[in-house]
Amino acid sequence: MENKKEFRNWLEAHRLEHPLVIAGPCSAETEEQVLKIAHELKDSDTTYLRAGIWKPRTRPGNFEGVGAIGLKWLQKAKAETGLLTATEVANRAHVDLALEHDIDLLWIGARSTVSPFIVQEIADALQGTDKVVLVKNPVNPDLALWIGAVERLYTADIKNLGVIHRGFSTYDKSKYRNNPEWQIAVDFQSKYPDIPLICDPSHITGKRDMILEVSQTALDLNYDGLMIETHYDPDNAWSDAAQQVTPDSLKQIFLDLRIRKEHD
Ligand code: PEP
Ligand code: MN
Repeated sequence: MENKKEFRNWLEAHRLEHPLVIAGPCSAETEEQVLKIAHELKDSDTTYLRAGIWKPRTRPGNFEGVGAIGLKWLQKAKAETGLLTATEVANRAHVDLALEHDIDLLWIGARSTVSPFIVQEIADALQGTDKVVLVKNPVNPDLALWIGAVERLYTADIKNLGVIHRGFSTYDKSKYRNNPEWQIAVDFQSKYPDIPLICDPSHITGKRDMILEVSQTALDLNYDGLMIETHYDPDNAWSDAAQQVTPDSLKQIFLDLRIRKEHD
């Protein structure tokens, strides 16, 4: 995959912003919420504002996202703050709508990466795009399935391709929401060193007080970036309340990461 270095080059060119930071709420809830979070993140290390608008809930009966209207809120947030925008896509219709609204980064969620049919459909819809496309690892600890998804996107000539490590589900009791199984991501990294690797400590830990420690491990392992769920009122978030941090806590996390780095 040597010729797929655009995203990597872009990351290098933005060395000052290294690691790449993607932050924002698990779910877009209201226009006011998206805009308030965007403004509070404006003066942080954040490059991409994330917000899920189609939410893949494991069980029915929970908030399933605001849908396409959220794309307009992201566009408005970008116009007001200059932050680039990011959302999850899970089928061809999502991709078409996200591209129509000029969303800058599209990611494939862990529940979609497990399905070769859906990954292929998304790859076909994204054929040749210059947008950044990130593939979360599948929910289960299966390196081949993760690689297979990357290969489908690579074959569709997606230039700015990266992956997100969000941990792996387990039936055993664990202090993590999704076990990091760092070795799987390290194996991915050694097989594809040119594909940027982002860590999602929010879905790995499920708890906001563990975000710093997992982010530190990821940076120590030379990850290229972090995706951290951020909300001004985490306890009252409509999804993933226990793991979201406030914009102020996010800024503190990056100060702490930097201080530790300087002490190396
Ligand atoms: C998310 O990023 O909010 C999300 C649903 O993540 P995952 O696909 O990792 O569960
Ligand atoms: Mn979430």
